[in-house]
Amino acid sequence: MLRCKYIYSGVSMNKVPVAISNRHIFLSEEDTIRLFNTLNVPRQKTLGQEKYYAYEPTVDVIGQNNYVIKNVRVIGPPRKKTQVELLFGDCVKLDIKPYIRQTEDIKGSPGCVLKSKYGQAQLNTGVIVPARHMHANYEDAEKMGLIQNEFVKIRAAGDRALIFDNVLVRIDKYASLAFHIDIEEANAANVKPGQMLQILK
Ligand SMILES: [Zn+2]
Repeated sequence: MLRCKYIYSGVSMNKVPVAISNRHIFLSEEDTIRLFNTLNVPRQKTLGQEKYYAYEPTVDVIGQNNYVIKNVRVIGPPRKKTQVELLFGDCVKLDIKPYIRQTEDIKGSPGCVLKSKYGQAQLNTGVIVPARHMHANYEDAEKMGLIQNEFVKIRAAGDRALIFDNVLVRIDKYASLAFHIDIEEANAANVKPGQMLQILK
């Protein structure tokens, strides 16, 4: 008897849950002290990944044109270098060149001014629009045939269906499987946090 088999030629059925980020800032120790007068900044709440936390006080981001984006969340602990992760639309409003890069790849990026109740920090560099990427641990990666630092496509279905291209695969021992995009990209495809999207290879 002839049986009809489901064939997916070249397209994997692997799925990944979406995690959506908004604009946020990582501060160096020096800039933490400049803006908050202390390294013991009060914490807001625990994020999904416990090694990060949000500070209670926020800072304002000021662009070349003096446009201000108020109350931007700061994530601790301090990093080696201050990094301001903005949305593409923020950069347009602030008259800052949108510099799309993976986290910590800030070489050559533009700067801005950060301001709080206590003080301000003038940054010459460190403003990026985070580039889309996905995380997987070694087990997930093997199951799904993913390779460290390769680029995949991820498809969102629905009314605003679209294929996210240039998704960098980041494999790490302790990573939770997740596709990281920002709120503008999520809105463009009308996807919600935790929604499962299909990896195309
Ligand atoms: Zn990520």
